[in-house]
Amino acid sequence: MNGSIGRNAEHRRLRELLGSHALGHLPPAEDARVRAHVDGCAACRADLAEIEPLAGLLAGVDVRHFDEPASPPSDLGALIRAQVADERSSQEDDDLALRREHRRRRASTRAGLGIAAAAVVVAALVGGIAVGRSTVPEVAAPVIPFEPVALTVGSEAIEIETAGLVPHTWGVELRMTGSGFTQGARFKAYFRNSRTGRLQTAGAFVGTGSDSMVCNLQSALMRNEASEVVVKDASGAVVLAANI
Ligand SMILES: [Zn+2]
Repeated sequence: MNGSIGRNAEHRRLRELLGSHALGHLPPAEDARVRAHVDGCAACRADLAEIEPLAGLLAGVDVRHFDEPASPPSDLGALIRAQVADERSSQEDDDLALRREHRRRRASTRAGLGIAAAAVVVAALVGGIAVGRSTVPEVAAPVIPFEPVALTVGSEAIEIETAGLVPHTWGVELRMTGSGFTQGARFKAYFRNSRTGRLQTAGAFVGTGSDSMVCNLQSALMRNEASEVVVKDASGAVVLAANI
């Protein structure tokens, strides 16, 4: 890198935007600036190369609802590091990402999603995996309306015990208890936006084989904006679907 202070400041500023760039969250002008910078900056190119595989995985995830996790498991930090270590080169970077996430949560804003954004969303997904693996029976919450959903199952192995929607002030949630999701395989849930016709990500989980699992899959899409719920396997094949 050349030593110009202006150039370094630009590098630092745009580096913070790489995560948002990879997720496609930047306005066009800002996005063009990031692309132009990345063309001429090997360090940012390397960072982006690390982030992009994650961004592909997470396209469409809305991070807003991750600001209100119920109660992260006590070993969440370790889970995050284990997951993120594959994608990022050093422990220091992971700790930095965690500190940035704490700052980001305090700021409670989507603006300035930094280079850590992709790692942050992975952390949220890991939280979801932990929830998905939980076998603790759900405590019935009588005040919460629960709208049962009849899911069409696209895989012989999968058995759904209960499934339903819970409308929230911040969006809609699919609560599902079932088994037969391929052990260790990754599944992603979506709600279809009835206005745009497009699927919006509602989180991911990892299959637990024949063990029963409880999944709470949340979307910032409001209940009355959602027309379909879909769960796909890693190949993109639909394994569960219901018009809602
Ligand atoms: Zn740079």
